[in-house]
Amino acid sequence: MIETSGTALPAAGVQPPAAANGRHRRAVDDPTGVPPPGEVALIGRPTPQRATVLQALVDTEGFVSAQALHARLLTTGGRVGLSTVYRTLTALVAAGRADVVRDEAGERSFRYRQGSDHRHYLICRQCGLSLPVDSAAVESWADEIGATSGFTAVEHTVELTGTCSDCTAAG
Ligand SMILES: [Zn+2]
Ligand SMILES: [Zn+2]
Repeated sequence: MIETSGTALPAAGVQPPAAANGRHRRAVDDPTGVPPPGEVALIGRPTPQRATVLQALVDTEGFVSAQALHARLLTTGGRVGLSTVYRTLTALVAAGRADVVRDEAGERSFRYRQGSDHRHYLICRQCGLSLPVDSAAVESWADEIGATSGFTAVEHTVELTGTCSDCTAAG
């Protein structure tokens, strides 16, 4: 056993954990997927049904259609109508608390958005795999348009779809 004196210095080149940068973290890995108190108030009339829909969306990994979310609620004993699911999801999108994408058939799928975090995704049209992508160029472009157009409350929707590597390999 060799004794050393003084304070151990960190090895050169050791970086702090990447977790410090939450911007590109996949939301599905975030353990804090529970809406903070008051969240339900963001989605209009704070009914138990709407709270149930919100929680189901928070618990969902990846994007989910209103029909699929409704079907899942039925299997867990939730007594929520499909129209309520639609209304709640639409309200969440309007409140900036959910991302929405459309598939080729025009069906919309939804995903809960953490806080004001705003992302764009690359979606596989075959299996629905969704990956957040770097959208810095889109954001700066949209910010510039918003700043120079005279419009206020400018929002944008950018959808990227394709065939993921697994589905491509599966032919
Ligand atoms: Zn795929
Ligand atoms: Zn954006």
